[in-house]
Parts: sequence; structure tokens; C-alpha cells
Amino acid sequence: MAAAPETKTVHSPALTYFSMLSLLSLCPPFVILLWYTMVHADGSVVQTRNYLKQHGLQGFIDIWPRPTAIAWKIIFVYGAFEAALQLLLPGKRVEGPVSPTGNRPVYKANGMAAYFVTLVTYISLWWFEIFNPTVVYDHLGEIYSALIFGSLIFCVFLYIKGHVAPSSTDSGSSGNLIIDFYWGMELYPRIGKNFDIKVFTNCRFGMMSWAVLAVTYCIKQYELNGKVSDSMLVNTTLMLVYVTKFFWWEAGYWNTMDIAHDRAGFYICWGCLVWVPSVYTSPGMYLVNHPVNLGMQLALYILVAGILCIYINYDCDRQRQEFRRTNGKCKIWGKAPSKIEATYTTTSGETKTSLLLTSGWWGLARHFHYVPEILAAFFWTVPALFNHFLPYFYVVFLTILLFDRAKRDDDRCRSKYGKYWKLYCNKAPYKIIPGIY
Ligand code: NDP
Repeated sequence: MAAAPETKTVHSPALTYFSMLSLLSLCPPFVILLWYTMVHADGSVVQTRNYLKQHGLQGFIDIWPRPTAIAWKIIFVYGAFEAALQLLLPGKRVEGPVSPTGNRPVYKANGMAAYFVTLVTYISLWWFEIFNPTVVYDHLGEIYSALIFGSLIFCVFLYIKGHVAPSSTDSGSSGNLIIDFYWGMELYPRIGKNFDIKVFTNCRFGMMSWAVLAVTYCIKQYELNGKVSDSMLVNTTLMLVYVTKFFWWEAGYWNTMDIAHDRAGFYICWGCLVWVPSVYTSPGMYLVNHPVNLGMQLALYILVAGILCIYINYDCDRQRQEFRRTNGKCKIWGKAPSKIEATYTTTSGETKTSLLLTSGWWGLARHFHYVPEILAAFFWTVPALFNHFLPYFYVVFLTILLFDRAKRDDDRCRSKYGKYWKLYCNKAPYKIIPGIY
């Protein structure tokens, strides 16, 4: 078996093991506590802490919902529906970037169609009274519980598959069970020739569930109160704009770190199957029982600011991809782009060249696109106002994730491009926030 394409020990080995083991053991209970606090403890961390103080470990076991048959049924029907759309809907043939061992994965770009079919089907099921999405909200704890255990088993399957039946040469073991399980072994695992597992877990299950749950929370509030508050409308609209942008640009996502660099293991796959539907959607989960009335003017200000941030984030990604797609022969902010031709060597010893864009958004800072990403999350959370901290957990988590990601990406690019990356750092000295960091 080939060696791992990249060993992800950006931090010291002790810190790496500590953070891996902490995330493996703390993320599952956190998901349950988050759900419990949002749905049953008024969004108040203090209330949950007092409950746990009073009832101890047994109290925690009591609030952890057991996965029920209805929860499994909802997950299975949703997963099977998304898998069928991924396989069957038509789409353009798209090639991903060249992998470290020189492969080029091929995809069918049918994400936008799948997104459209999913939302229309879900809303129609409600409209024609065939299935009420409030059932999903009412069984949310059981669904998360089932997802937690089901996804852990799925990660074991990925680990075994990586060892015994890898789909391509972009696979390998680090020689350490925990690292292999946590970071994954295969870069592009597939079932058969066409069913890409990471496209399913990250896009069609994870990101799609974000939109489906945002709509669910809205409908639940409507059924509870007979109307939807403006705060919920702003939150849902911004989340849907964000997810729509994601599927509009899904083929571009296949060029990003999640797909092109991070292998299929607990970090990415469990994260997309469990963390995205629970933590990413949590501001909406909170708003169901906290219908704040913002007033038309404030609601509009927040909405416009959020849409602007989502647009800028999209434009940063678009700029980089357009620049790479046209081999630098495009206009960036109305001018010919400034660029660096960076050569590097693949793991198989071939010399290749990549273009690095050093103007436009990519000249402001090396990861400026994370700024509007974080601000957009702030704007779809701020309709909850400031009574509780917990709705802001996603914004705080995202900020930590993206600052860590900027470091990981910088380190990876430095070792890939060497002196050319140094040149880029001289031209764009800031990592994320121009003039500050
Ligand atoms: P990027 O899209 O920023 O991709 C980084 C890669 O781009 C680098 O590894 C390098 O790859 C290439 N690159 C770096 N600098 C340049 C340059 N100047 N010119 C051309 N290519 C360059 O990575 P992300 O995956 O972090 O972000 C993608 C999107 O996903 C963003 O919008 C981000 O905000 C969003 N995101 C959202 C998250 C969430 O949880 N909500 C989490 C993470 C990302 P190469 O080897 O090809 O040179």
C-alpha cells in the first residue's frame, strides 16, 4: 500500500493527538447537548449546566435520545433519495484538479438540479399534506443520535475500505490507526465507478440537510405560532442563499481543500454527516422557540448585509477558479491579473506548474475569502439578538476552524510551492485580515 499522500501534523505531535482524541470523544456528546439546550433548555447554557450539576452523568444519559425506528427511517429515506439524485440526474462532465499522484477525478455536475428537486419535493410533501416536516423537528434528537452512531460506523467502513479496496492510488496509511481513522485514507473513495462518497457526504447529505433543516425550522415555527417571525425569515433566507450559492458553485467546491486535499475520514465525513446538520443549522434551531420581532427596517439591513457577504465570498472563490480555468487569461477587477507561475513536484516525481493569483481579492490577503464567510454567519445569527450565547456558537466555531484552516493551507502551500509561495507571501503579507492578521 502506498504511503499517505500527506501527513497532517501541522501542529506538534502531542497537540495533534490531543486534539484528535478530544474531537473524537467530545463532538458526539456536544451535538446532543447543543440540541437539548436549544430545544429543551431555552437556549440557555446555564440552564443545561445546572441540570447536569444536579443530575450528573445519569442526567446526561437520560437526555441522550435513543435512535428510534422513525429516526432511522427519515435518515434512510433522505439518504437514499439524495444518492439516487446524485446517480440519476443529468449533469455536465467536470474534471477535478490533478491529485498528488497525478489522477484527475471526473464528476457529474448535477448539484443544482438535486438541490432544486430536493426543496421542491420537501415543500410539496408539506403543502399537499403527505409528510409534515415538523415530524423531523419533533424527532431531531433521535435523528442526531442515529446520525452520530451511524456515521461512526460509516467512518469504520471508510477505514476498512481504505485498507482493503481503495478506489485509486490517492490512498494510503500513515501507519497509525487513530490518524488513519481521523484524517481518512482515501482522497477520492468511490462505490463502483461513479458514486463519489465525498460528494455524497459533503454535498448531497451534509450541505443539502442544511437547507432542508432551515426550511423545517421555518415550518415548525409557522405551525407553532400561525406565522413566521421576521427574524426567522432573515435567518432562513440567508442560510438558503448561502446553500444555493454552494450548489451553484458545487463543481468549484470540488477544487477546494475539503475535496482535493482532505481525505475521507472522521474529520470530513463525520463532520459533514453530523456536525453540519446539527451545529451549522443551530441558529435556526434556536429561533423556532424564540421568535424575535426585528421590525422591517432592521430585518432588511441584516438581510442586505448578509447577502453582500455571501456574494463577496462567492466572488473570491469565483475569481480564483476563473483565473485557474482560463490559465490567467481573464480580467480581475477589470485588469489583467497579476500572477506567479509556481512549479512544484508531485509525489510521483513529475514537475508541474500552477498559477497563483496575486491581485483582486487574492492580493488583499492570502485567505481573505474567510472574512465574508464568517460575517455572513454572523448576519444569519444576529436576528436571534443577544439574550443567549449559544446561537453564536457556530460563528465562534467557524472563526476557529477557518483560522486553523488558513494555517494548514499556508503550511501545505509553502511545502508544495517553496520559494514561489514565499514570493506570494511578500506580495500578500496578511493571512486573512488585510493590515491586521
Ligand atoms: P480555497 O478555495 O481557498 O483553496 C485553497 C487552495 O487554493 C490552496 O490550497 C491552493 O491550492 C490554491 N490557492 C491558494 N492561493 C491561491 C492563489 N493566490 N491563486 C490561486 N490558487 C490559490 O480553500 P477552502 O477550501 O478553504 O475554501 C473554499 C470555500 O469554502 C471558501 O468560500 C470558504 O469560505 C468555504 N469554507 C467554508 C467552511 C464552512 O465550514 N462553512 C469551511 C471551509 C471552507 P493548489 O494546491 O491548487 O495551489
